[in-house]
Amino acid sequence: MRVALLGGTFDPPHVGHLIAASDAHDVLALDRLVFVPAAQQPLKRNLPVAAASHRLRMLQLMIQGDARFSLDEIEIQRTGLSFTVDTLEEYARRLPEAVRYFLIGADAFAMLDQWRDAPRVVALAHLVVLTRSGGGGGRRDLSADEVSERVRAIGGNEAAVPQALPARRIDVSSTEIRRRVAARRPIRGFVTDAVAQYIDTNELYR
Ligand code: ATP
Ligand code: MG
Repeated sequence: MRVALLGGTFDPPHVGHLIAASDAHDVLALDRLVFVPAAQQPLKRNLPVAAASHRLRMLQLMIQGDARFSLDEIEIQRTGLSFTVDTLEEYARRLPEAVRYFLIGADAFAMLDQWRDAPRVVALAHLVVLTRSGGGGGRRDLSADEVSERVRAIGGNEAAVPQALPARRIDVSSTEIRRRVAARRPIRGFVTDAVAQYIDTNELYR
């Protein structure tokens, strides 16, 4: 059993998440990829966030009917600040025999040294950093070597070799989507139609 977790605030979930998850599912030959929405992201503590119930519902709408993906409310049920290490401890208990991966975008990985108990995080799951494949456009992402180097720097052990997974990174973020909604600009194509509809109906991000 090969399972990967993709954590985030998903405020809202968008096609960038979906495509990165699809690539990871393929490349890592996963049985299951689990989206794990945070109750409160410690490093985003002061930013406004849509209610957990909305973010959950949008994730459900985005992945429903897709057997590759599932959703775990573990962090939302735990409430308070969501520390990845707590979630990974629980997964290690639940699925001790599984090959466990934790997926993380290069931007989030850059802040790993600020995470609670980062050495334990990299001991509990294979850390997979989603890096941009191919060249062109935007900032340069970390190479596999740079990823390994950084994990060593925070005290991760050699056994848990981090991987840089070349995934496409669609140039879209939740921040941009929230801004577009606030500016009354369309978001079709940035999120799935069901999610766009949900945002509209519930008047989110206005
Ligand atoms: P925000 O703009 O509010 O920070 P976001 O678009 O970065 O939102 P998050 O919920 O913070 O979305 O992201 C969850 C995870 O998905 C993080 O590991 C992040 O690096 C990764 N991610 C976000 N956007 C993309 C994208 N376009 N392609 C690949 N991975 C992404
Ligand atoms: Mg982000």
